[in-house]
Amino acid sequence: MPALIKAVRGTRDLLPPDTETWNLVEAAARDCFGAFNFHEIRTPVLEDLALFQRSVGEETDIVSKEMFAWEDRSRAESEKGQWLALRPENTAGVVRAYIEHKLWERAGVQKLYYIGPQFRRERPQKGRYRQFYQIGAEIIGPPASGSESPARDAEVLEMLATLLERLGIQNWTLELNSVGCPEDRVRYNQALRDALAPVVNQMCGDCQRRAVTNPLRVLDCKVPADQPIIEKLPRISDYLDEPCREHFYEVQRILKALAVPYTINSRLVRGLDYYVRTVFEFTHGALGAQNAILGGGRYDGLSEALGGPRAPGIGFAIGEDRLVMALAEVRPAETAAPDVYIAAMGAGMNAEAARLGRELRHSGITVELGDESFRLKKSLETASKLGARFAVILGENEIQSGQIAVKNLATGEQQAVARAELPGRIRQNR
Ligand code: AMP
Repeated sequence: MPALIKAVRGTRDLLPPDTETWNLVEAAARDCFGAFNFHEIRTPVLEDLALFQRSVGEETDIVSKEMFAWEDRSRAESEKGQWLALRPENTAGVVRAYIEHKLWERAGVQKLYYIGPQFRRERPQKGRYRQFYQIGAEIIGPPASGSESPARDAEVLEMLATLLERLGIQNWTLELNSVGCPEDRVRYNQALRDALAPVVNQMCGDCQRRAVTNPLRVLDCKVPADQPIIEKLPRISDYLDEPCREHFYEVQRILKALAVPYTINSRLVRGLDYYVRTVFEFTHGALGAQNAILGGGRYDGLSEALGGPRAPGIGFAIGEDRLVMALAEVRPAETAAPDVYIAAMGAGMNAEAARLGRELRHSGITVELGDESFRLKKSLETASKLGARFAVILGENEIQSGQIAVKNLATGEQQAVARAELPGRIRQNR
């Protein structure tokens, strides 16, 4: 026997009925985002590696440890290849597309959402995969379009609260912080360096490196032994300048007016370098260790860092895998059953069954077909197992008479129904 080939570690197949929940989540997101006037963007899964190095940041875990990247030698053998990467997140791709297609020339702010797979070489565990799915949205535009306004921050946060509410997900907590602007960050990084200098040799290897290269990332450290040291480090909130303080205050004022509940978490800095000012995470009680259901923040300098014009923006990414897990708690997945199972009786009846199936489907009825080789008993058993509402028995006699035998599989009751009346009768009773 040849060895079995299995799904790659950290990837998984999504099967029915679970896919029903995925589709439900995606439909709810499209609907909710549409009500806030967002439109869909689809960017490639494959991007130039430099895009993520310049946006997410070389010192982040995502870029330094978790990228699926390789040198593409598909050009001429002699030429140096281009480094390609599977996208680890989608904001960079959206901003690249914004620049590439000059979306700033369009009216107002751009409100874009995406749904798709992302890739990170993380250690797989429950709620953490190497191929996972994000549903995200971005508001981006020239400063004159209002893209920098705290009203945009509040708008995306309210949209998220609305989506979770519509899905019936409770028990979420919105954690909010401001990481200030780059000038604040310079002063804060210096304060962190000063505070870390006497203690850094007691910390993990990553922190020792980060303390030199990018001390803010020390706050992302998950090593338990380092936490007491991290707890005593200075807080970003003490280093915000007046405009950043004011911006953060205004975001909170609008959230209060909308009755969107939140808590301030001054340790929240998020694992991507491009964030400025507002950053946030929604966590969910039932998810265990991987309890962050979504995260996001403002990235006012990202477009310029990628060679584009000034285009402040804010966005978020929902971990769809985790949202589906949270939703499965309140709504177990179920495969939708067919309305009708057509039992073709006898040789030559497959074509007739297909014709009747076609008629019924035209009326919006879900139809499953049996096969003329099945005995009636087998057809009825299969119809019951599939959860079909009705079995329609179609043999030579039914074709001749135009009267079709319809069996209600819940009650066992059987009736002859004129073919023309069949769609109406089924729709009424399903
Ligand atoms: P990030 O892009 O790191 O801000 O992540 C945003 C959200 O994506 C997180 O809150 C998680 O819900 C989800 N997420 C990130 N990484 C993974 C992963 N490896 N597996 C599943 N979900 C993930």
